[in-house]
Order: sequence, then C-alpha cells, then structure tokens
Amino acid sequence: MNISDAVTIEVDGYEKIVAMRDPATGYRGIIAIHSTKLGPAVGGTRFWNYQSDDEALADVLRLARGMTYKNAAAGLPFGGGKAVIIGAAQQIDRAAWFRAHGRFVENFQGRFITGEDVGTSPADMEIAAQETRFVAGFAGRGGDPSPWTARGVLRGIKASARQRWGSDNLHGKTVALQGCGNVGFALALLLKDAGARLVVADVNAERAVVCAHACDAAVVAPEEIYDAAADVFAPCALGGILNEQTTPRLRAEIIAGAANNQLRDNEAAQAIEARGILYAPDFILNAGGIISGSAYLLGESLAQLEQRIAEIYDTLLAVYQLATQKQTTTAAAAEAYAEQILRGA
Ligand code: NAD
Repeated sequence: MNISDAVTIEVDGYEKIVAMRDPATGYRGIIAIHSTKLGPAVGGTRFWNYQSDDEALADVLRLARGMTYKNAAAGLPFGGGKAVIIGAAQQIDRAAWFRAHGRFVENFQGRFITGEDVGTSPADMEIAAQETRFVAGFAGRGGDPSPWTARGVLRGIKASARQRWGSDNLHGKTVALQGCGNVGFALALLLKDAGARLVVADVNAERAVVCAHACDAAVVAPEEIYDAAADVFAPCALGGILNEQTTPRLRAEIIAGAANNQLRDNEAAQAIEARGILYAPDFILNAGGIISGSAYLLGESLAQLEQRIAEIYDTLLAVYQLATQKQTTTAAAAEAYAEQILRGA
C-alpha cells in the first residue's frame, strides 16, 4: 500500500478505513472505524515511526477492533476506531501535522472521535482541536486520562485479589510494577496508599528512582522485574511483554496492569493459565482513560465518572466467572463478554 492524498481501503469486518496524505506538510495517517454499532467510534491517535504503510495499516486495524471490545465491555455507548500517524517525531513541524490530523478527523463528521495515545500528548490534541470538535483528552475536554486509568487499574487489581485470595485487601502484598510513566507512577502512589509494597523498574532509570522515592519502593533493573518476588505483576509499559521468555520467570499469582496488548499471543494466555497465574485482561482493566474521555463527551458528572471507574471491579469479576463457566482463559472470556454486549445491541 502507498498512501496518496486520500484513499479508502476495504477490509472485511471494518466499516470504514481511510488513509490520508497532506501534501503541504507531509503528514500521513490512517483512520480505521471498526464498528459504530454501539455509537460513534472512539479511539486514540498513535504516532509511530512505522517501517512501512502496511505495518501502520495492520496496527490501526488491530487497535480499532480492540477499541470496539474495550468500549463495549466498559458499558460505554461508543463504537471502536483508531488513528495512526506515520512518521519520525523529530523530523516534523509538529503543530502543522496535528492540525492536518484535526482536519482529517473532522472529515468523519463525528463518526470518529479521538484523543491521545502512544506517541501523542494532551498538547497535541489541543492543537488538533483547532480544526475539529471531535477530539478530547486535554484540559477543558476531559483532561489527562492517565490518573483515571490508574484508578481503574487499582480497582482491577483489587477485584483480582478477591478472585485469587478471597479478599481485596492489598495490605502487605507486594506488587512488581513495570514502567513508572504517567499511569505507572499514579498507580504506584495508589498502591502505596492501599498498603502494598512495591518493586519498580523503568528503562528510564531516573523515573524509576523518583517513583521509588515517592512510594518507598525498591528499584530493580528493567530486565529483572520478571524475577521479582511479588504477589502481583503490574505491566504498565509496553505491549507483548507476556511471552515464552518472560512468563516462566514470573513469581506473582496475579498479572494485572495498564499496558495495552500485554499478551504476545494466545499461547501466552494458555501458558499463564497453566502456571495457575490469574491474568486480568488488559482492555477490561485499563478502560479508565477512555471512560474519562467518554464522561466529557457524554456530559457526565464527576460522580458518574467515578461510578463507571468503580464498575471495572464488577466487570472483571463477571469476566472471571465467564472464564470458569466456559472453561476458557480469562483473555478469551473478556472477548466473549464484550461480544455478548455487541450481540445484544
Ligand atoms: P508512558 O509513556 O507515560 O509510560 C511508560 C513508561 O514505561 C515510561 O516511563 C517508559 O520509560 C517505561 N518503559 C518502556 N519500556 C520499558 C521496559 N521495557 N521496562 C520498563 N519500563 C519501560 O505511558 P503511559 O501513558 O503511562 O501508558 C503505559 C501503558 O498503559 C501503555 O501500554 C499504554 O498503551 C497503556 N494505557 C495507557 C492509558 C493512559 O491513560 N495513559 C490508557 C490505557 C492504556
């Protein structure tokens, strides 16, 4: 595939996919709408230095479908979509690119609504908003989603503790936290308040040290976090980190964190299950960010937003119950849970 000015791409199972190039700025991006069955498609904008347009297309398709499932499982009246921008961040006129992106989003006339994701920030969304109303996730339009994501992840860790140990009290439990970024740091503070002990790691050594200082945590090297003696492993960095190399090393009884697409493949889910580790499906756990953006779009109050975040606890317990009933992995049960909602729509 080669992106020219505007190309529509047909892919089975997707409602609309458009690739766009803005000749004036060199901007290139793809927006994929997977489903609007539950409402307008909502999903973030990822900015990545993809090796090819095909790689970008594969990523946006996977992510857009994931948003349909995440939004459905969170009980939101929104469908799933995603945007990717293709390029190297250091070589562009960033403001011009995000204005071009805003114009691209505006073309969808509200059928697609976006916000920040990997490689983009609330500030970028504020620039895109000069061209479109259909963007959220910055001051005045829902704010930074990360603190809400962290709160939702804490609810998910507690639900998982209840499922695994019969109590959601985290006092004295040890959490090995991978990634002390926006979500990881906020989660570390919440866990400390909940009485948990922490072991943290980050490839950015300074971030790990600052986080450890704030939470009385121990720091280990990034590669050693998988071997840490812990009750819970909380991945809050990158996707694909649960795989045949890492899962045999884990000592935790629960895996529950914010990172998207933690499982490299289905085999990883099965290997985790076989080891008797409870895996909290990531898209159920990390829905707090999209829930906070949705609260802005729906005009919900702070109390309604807090209620939706709190419900992540019960949703996760329902997913665990479904996994037991259907004798599947918790990852498969999470998909089945979302599909039930989509079928009922
Ligand atoms: P972030 O970029 O602020 O933080 C990620 C941190 O992980 C950084 O400090 C980075 O240095 C560190 N890191 C990267 N690779 C690492 C490795 N191999 N080992 C240890 N640390 C490593 O990102 P974020 O917003 O905190 O998001 C974290 C994860 O949660 C991502 O996977 C993101 O997709 C997911 N997520 C975030 C939100 C949100 O609201 N921000 C919502 C849903 C999902």
